[in-house]
Amino acid sequence: MAVTYIDMSAVSEEDMQTFRRRVVGRSIGEDTFEAYQLWIRRFEDWYDGDDPTLRDLEDFDTLLEDPSQPVYPWANNVGRPAPSSYSYSSRNQAMSALKMWIRRQYDREIPEQPGDIVIGEEEEFDPTYLSRERVREIIEQAPSACNCDGCQAALSLSYDAVMRASELVRCRVSDVDLENGDVYVRASKGSRDSTVTISDHTVSLIEEWLAISDHSTGKLFTNTYGSPWTKGSWATHVIEYHCEEGSHAFGRHTPILHMLQSGMSFGDVYRRARHKSPATTARYARYVDVDVPSWAGD
Ligand SMILES: [Zn+2]
Repeated sequence: MAVTYIDMSAVSEEDMQTFRRRVVGRSIGEDTFEAYQLWIRRFEDWYDGDDPTLRDLEDFDTLLEDPSQPVYPWANNVGRPAPSSYSYSSRNQAMSALKMWIRRQYDREIPEQPGDIVIGEEEEFDPTYLSRERVREIIEQAPSACNCDGCQAALSLSYDAVMRASELVRCRVSDVDLENGDVYVRASKGSRDSTVTISDHTVSLIEEWLAISDHSTGKLFTNTYGSPWTKGSWATHVIEYHCEEGSHAFGRHTPILHMLQSGMSFGDVYRRARHKSPATTARYARYVDVDVPSWAGD
């Protein structure tokens, strides 16, 4: 069978730029456009007709959902291999992008909503988290797991103060009050800045670290070369040397679930987790079957 490739990429740069001008700032933002563009290019790499219909979107969704699909007709450029089955939320986003693209590019309206096109149902909230034993082990074994002296204190603080990688790397020496045993967390992701109490154990680990480290940069934690961590370098380091589940599972999902499981009140967990909305805390609470107060909404 003869196959003729007309174009290296199935979507011309000109068409994509026209689409961008029409939708960004009007229907969607720049970030969403980047994600949409990816799905549009994938669809066009797969699709070989010239008048896409609902049926084609359904077939595309079936391809994305099929766990036995060994390869996709595109290379993944989001830094990880393509999954064997794309999640409901990814497929839902793909359909939103394609509906918009097909309307603009092919002048065809697909009235069905993305949720009516994609197979299956939205996944339940399923955060990756660790047992208390595992957390203790990771912190205890940190000194021999890598060659950065600050990691034991950093890991202990991140679990204790429920810190995101971005918050941990922003932490300054002056943010820690060793007398009172608390840390000032410069929040990211829209949470509020907040002072969080930390355990005596974490306090003494930080004291030990401060005694041996050069912290002239003002940043609390530095890597082997004495340079402050970046969010990305810390996250990568954690996966490579300390916890394969990653810094978010270690510093966020795990302590939030442990606090709820230990019977801490919903309000205290919400404040300590510094969630922007109590509805986020509520998802964790339901996950471990802890009652959600009515003020937390749904
Ligand atoms: Zn380390």
